[in-house]
Amino acid sequence: MRFSKLFAPTTKDAPKDALLPSHIYLVRAGFVSQIGSGIYNFLPLGKIVLDKIRAIVKEELDNVGCQEVQLGFITPSELWKESGRYDKFGKELLRFKDRKNNEFVLGPTHEEAMVDLVKNRIKSYKQLPLNLYQINTKFRDEARPRYGLLRGREFLMKDGYSFHENDEDLKREYALIEKTYAKILDRLGLTYRAVEADSGAIGGSGSKEFMVIADNGEDDIVICDGCEYAANIEAAKRTKSILKDDEVEMQAGEFHTPDVKTIEQLSDFFKIPSEFFVKAVAKKAIFSDHEEIILFFVRGCDQLQETKALSICGALDFEDATDADLQSVGLIAGFIGPDVENIKVYVDGELEDEEMLICGANRENYHYVGYTFKDKEFDFVDLVTVEEGDICTRCGGKLSTTKGIEVGHIFQLGTQYSEALGATFLDRNGKAQPFVMGTYGIGVSRLVAVIIEQHHDDRGCIWTKESAPFDVDIIVSNVKDEVQSAFAQKLYEQLRQKGKSVLLDDRADRFGVKISDFELCGFPLAVIVGKGLKEDKVQIVNRKTLVKEEVAIDKIFDKLMELV
Ligand code: ATP
Ligand code: MG
Repeated sequence: MRFSKLFAPTTKDAPKDALLPSHIYLVRAGFVSQIGSGIYNFLPLGKIVLDKIRAIVKEELDNVGCQEVQLGFITPSELWKESGRYDKFGKELLRFKDRKNNEFVLGPTHEEAMVDLVKNRIKSYKQLPLNLYQINTKFRDEARPRYGLLRGREFLMKDGYSFHENDEDLKREYALIEKTYAKILDRLGLTYRAVEADSGAIGGSGSKEFMVIADNGEDDIVICDGCEYAANIEAAKRTKSILKDDEVEMQAGEFHTPDVKTIEQLSDFFKIPSEFFVKAVAKKAIFSDHEEIILFFVRGCDQLQETKALSICGALDFEDATDADLQSVGLIAGFIGPDVENIKVYVDGELEDEEMLICGANRENYHYVGYTFKDKEFDFVDLVTVEEGDICTRCGGKLSTTKGIEVGHIFQLGTQYSEALGATFLDRNGKAQPFVMGTYGIGVSRLVAVIIEQHHDDRGCIWTKESAPFDVDIIVSNVKDEVQSAFAQKLYEQLRQKGKSVLLDDRADRFGVKISDFELCGFPLAVIVGKGLKEDKVQIVNRKTLVKEEVAIDKIFDKLMELV
């Protein structure tokens, strides 16, 4: 490709709302442009990168026996109603009607559509397992589309779905796809961790997210310094810390605590550390058909992990409960304790055997001292947010937190969708069984931005080997110099003949413009054909290190063949 013909409108101006390097550089370097909130056009350079990522994903998946299909982007609402997700998915699901009043959704994910495709077509266990995937546009009406390609409303996803006769075979496939995802991310040159994810009712090792480590990540992940354990903060577990009860003395009973409401105030008032207090977190839980106040109790020094709390109570969302909301169910903010009537209560599992605690007395200006959870009939569940320095449940190592961007998610789904949609096969005993399913996603367009989040400097993009739109940028320093032009042209042709992807910067611009475009666009190597040619020399620039190296013209071809 000749730069003079390339549609790559580079600019010095960053988009006004752009905060992250990937957003700024991908727009400035002319890889993408925004056409609407959360909707992006891919220009030629961006499209090359997108297609390269897509090709790597496809190659690795096809290698392990997955088959590519392409489903309609638009899905009839009927299927979503059958699965029960039409109401549950909330506002991210964009619904619309056609001229005949038929209802549709813009596909945000395709479990329903894929089950429908397989239903009545795969009839026997003999046709299983089957793993189908597509690399296709998705639409989610995200509440806050931002960060360019990282959180768009329209984006490209690889979504795969596997069908099995039993759990054991699903687990085998799940492990295989986990390995395959690792290969894909390795090839893209990314540093990542596969972390345990929140998977609602399914739990445990049923779901993993692939997190690319990045300072600007939206996800908090917990990693252990002693073993392989890594988890999303939404699912992270820790070892319970032992309270030193013998250090505090308490006389059981109600205690007058006028206007003392927060854990901090209480800790000051009683001169007792915050771990001995029970903190009530009241939420207004939103369900599809009603709202309800739910109480969550954690230790005074801990924070409620909202995603854990949401999956436990099955609500769609939480809102903070106002004092008025609390009053309406007979609760007094600042003095709420666990012994309430007609209100759903969940208690953090670490409190289960505790005996010497202080909690609200459910009476204004009173707390209860010496409260015990022992032998009480509460729902004891994991509710806390793991923090830096907590102890790993597996090896006793220290846990630390870091930021990540989710690029992939693999999930042992089970029979949830096949049952809802009545998709069955005949098992070895001739009995109809619902398919056991797995689902696997990769954010293909998000990966374009993620590569830059992890690989950039203050001059621009630094593409990794397999993601770079071109391997080499041959810069003609002065196009009016016929010797320079002729030499560059010849090198360009030679490399192209060998199948290398080469850009020839033959623009009439100043050298400074060309080198800064090279740096902004982030091709791995540049060859500068300039004044040195008179002494039979050209320069190679490494984009990552910015190191320049002089190379004799009779060596340059071999040298590039070796590097690229
Ligand atoms: P997130 O928590 O980031 O919203 P998600 O859990 O909703 O992601 P999945 O439903 O598991 O994501 O989708 C699979 C993959 O699709 C994600 O791992 C991510 O890489 C990508 N993805 C999801 N939402 C978006 C988006 N709004 N823009 C770009 N890529 C996305
Ligand atoms: Mg999402």
